[in-house]
Amino acid sequence: MIETIKILTESFGPSGRESKVREILIEMIKDHVDGYEVDKVGNLIAWKGNVGKPVVFVAHMDEIGIVVTNEIRGGFYRIEPVGGVSPYTALNRRYVLEDGTVGVVGMETETVQDAKKNMTNLSFDALYLDTFGKRVDISTFGVYDSYFYQNGDFLVSKAMDDRVSCAVLVEMVRRLKEPKRKFYIAFSIQEEVGLVGSSVLAYPLDVQEAIAIDVTDSADSPKSFKRHPMVIGKGPAIKIKDRYSISDKRIVDKLIKVAEDKGIPYQLEVLTFGGTDAAALMRTREGIPSATVSIPTRYIHTPNEVVGKDDVENTVRLLIEYVRAV
Ligand SMILES: [Zn+2]
Repeated sequence: MIETIKILTESFGPSGRESKVREILIEMIKDHVDGYEVDKVGNLIAWKGNVGKPVVFVAHMDEIGIVVTNEIRGGFYRIEPVGGVSPYTALNRRYVLEDGTVGVVGMETETVQDAKKNMTNLSFDALYLDTFGKRVDISTFGVYDSYFYQNGDFLVSKAMDDRVSCAVLVEMVRRLKEPKRKFYIAFSIQEEVGLVGSSVLAYPLDVQEAIAIDVTDSADSPKSFKRHPMVIGKGPAIKIKDRYSISDKRIVDKLIKVAEDKGIPYQLEVLTFGGTDAAALMRTREGIPSATVSIPTRYIHTPNEVVGKDDVENTVRLLIEYVRAV
């Protein structure tokens, strides 16, 4: 599974430009599912098994990024964030664009006062992308130029949000041979810009419940968020709530029961900000009861998102046992 995570996180796929990731995912799952389709907007949906009340597990394919807006002068460009990118995180980062161009984000610093002012209240207005003289087209998308790194139980890469969950779903269908209960896995588009893909992906599916798999804040570094209980290493986090939705209590209770019956470590999650595809799935059609299972992650939306190997493994186990149990 480590290799799957490496391949997926290192792939290029900011919101709205998910096609490469989708092609890789199709190759990874096609021999392990009963069928798959790509819907009109680009969500990838696959299914397995044929009896029972189906559940859909959803992970998003897209990652945060940037898009080139206009040229300042030869080789220097203005950029706009795609999804939740802090200008402080973008500053001095190396980016790779969809045409292969590599650039570095710099900040206008005409005077010392300017520099102080910009650093106190940094915005994308003061930033530019330096492509070292190479011309790029307006509207070119880019992502952090980062690579996968493993140190013991810690896995580090860009786009763990949410390709680590895509890897979980791939691993799930590889291991779950001939399931009794039918289930779907879905890889959504444009989650980072407003849960776009998940707003429509479940419309044609006759599903009884939906579970989003995503990353969540891990509050285990010095002076990390003091109202967050989630930490790396204690297992998948069964979400109680975030800012955009409250997980369906019946699904939460079932997840807890499955984890306890099978001896799978888990933790409960209350996130004081953020949201996942579950918020959109809950609003689909006449309403689909939805919940989220999260993987605790440090440094979310940076080139170095950190997850725990055991948490990922236990997330796969929890989802497999969930399908088997119901
Ligand atoms: Zn995200």
